[in-house]
Amino acid sequence: MTVVGHLINGQITNEGERTQDIYNPSTGEVSKQVALASKATVEEAIAAAQAAYPEWRNTPAIKRARVMFKFKDLLEQNADKICALIGEEHGKISHDAAGELQRGIENVEYACCAPELLKGEHSKNVAPNIDSWSEFQPLGVVAGITPFNFPAMVPLWMYPMAIVCGNCFILKPSERDPSSTLFIAQLLKEAGLPDGVMNVVNGDKQAVDTLLNDERIKAVSFVGSTPIAEYIYSTANANGKRCQALGGAKNHAIVMPDADMDNAVAQLLGAAFGSSGERCMALSVAVAVGDAAADALVSKMQEAMKGLKIGPCHDADNDFGPVITQQHQQKVFAYIDSAEKQGADIVVDGRNPSIDGYENGFYVGGTLIDRVTPEMDSYNAEIFGPVLQVVRVDTMQGAMDLIDNHEYGNGTCIFTRDGEAARYFSDHIQVGMVGINIPLPVPVAYHSFGGWKRSLFGDLHAYGPDAVRFYTKRKTITQRWPSAGVREGAQFSMPTMS
Ligand code: NAD
Repeated sequence: MTVVGHLINGQITNEGERTQDIYNPSTGEVSKQVALASKATVEEAIAAAQAAYPEWRNTPAIKRARVMFKFKDLLEQNADKICALIGEEHGKISHDAAGELQRGIENVEYACCAPELLKGEHSKNVAPNIDSWSEFQPLGVVAGITPFNFPAMVPLWMYPMAIVCGNCFILKPSERDPSSTLFIAQLLKEAGLPDGVMNVVNGDKQAVDTLLNDERIKAVSFVGSTPIAEYIYSTANANGKRCQALGGAKNHAIVMPDADMDNAVAQLLGAAFGSSGERCMALSVAVAVGDAAADALVSKMQEAMKGLKIGPCHDADNDFGPVITQQHQQKVFAYIDSAEKQGADIVVDGRNPSIDGYENGFYVGGTLIDRVTPEMDSYNAEIFGPVLQVVRVDTMQGAMDLIDNHEYGNGTCIFTRDGEAARYFSDHIQVGMVGINIPLPVPVAYHSFGGWKRSLFGDLHAYGPDAVRFYTKRKTITQRWPSAGVREGAQFSMPTMS
């Protein structure tokens, strides 16, 4: 059986390590295995990155950017293969995989602006004959640890910008669907990246802990669930590393009584069930303001869900595919059970999906649950499945309080025709990414991405302008070249311009 290995110093390696099965979630079969890197393997990757760093750091930014131009072309040329690899191991439908890849490519395009982004700041004559400037220097060897749900896009949030800023990179992808991530990283060599600048180690906690504890790693970007994000952030900080750790989510959409209900239902349908709800920006809670809005929302949504097509990743007619593992499928079912036991109404029940010919796949049917309350376990947890819960409130302020009191603050949205209400909502809500009649307000590549509260640990958001700051350190230089024969004596007071 194929074992997915590591990319270290430009070579694929796979040295008799522990392995773990990789499943095809559409069929439920084991398709490959992944090597789980030992401490020694991770240290070999760090050493390769460390050795490549001095030359890469001194490579002009325009030459670093040219690698990314070529990389973008190669990603486009290999898009079908990449999407097929994503589908085989993640289960997402080809049109959804293509959207993920395109969003990743847009981050590569932004990284092509490196020479402009790294220009720094310059002030001439801050005092007579004294000039001062700030420049942005790379950190050294930096690491990224990524989740299963976007095996192409989330790594591309990280390493293109880290690399064009002059760093060398170690990526530890999800062990559940590593093939597309590894294949994409291999394209960098063809794009002209020197060996050792980009390395991939597959693995589990042992690989992650090695990265967190090695003093040669200067910064860590993490995307995954909140308990692990918190662990990564506190460990990296304790070890003196810069860290940004993006965590889980529970994204609410407020449906106001004046909303265009047909539009709101169509938008919610895609945002709740697309990618089987396995997106950190999935809308998993609809908060209806007033019973009339709630009744209309639930009945129209119930009707719309009759058209949902669920099935294997390779059939582009499907709206969404399976969830990632059988264990995760059972977890989603358990949350639906608990909502029922705690008194919610299961309006559309996805617990018994029947997909002809794919009976062993990890499918969960689209599920709609009404009359959910904030005390319920299904409301508080991130279910990460195709489950939309409806909470009924009387006022917009009640809806906003609900959102503000939730532990997560990744994304949110309001459906309304009232500009004043929308403006108040976007100004006051305690959430990092806000949509107004936009269900998935995922920022484009030249704005940064990040949630608030327990959806992000750290100061700087992912990709966009914040990534330039995250992957560089500022140095400010002040210079004077005294004119011949002019010498200043010792100055004991704090130098000023007064
Ligand atoms: P996860 O936290 O299980 O895994 C993420 C990464 O951490 C993987 O590489 C994994 O190998 C590693 N890991 C897992 N357990 C570990 C441990 N005990 N010690 C050290 N490393 C460990 O997340 P997942 O299930 O792969 O992804 C889904 C989660 O990611 C969801 O919670 C989702 O909301 C979140 N997510 C967040 C964003 C965001 O931008 N905020 C984006 C995508 C996904």
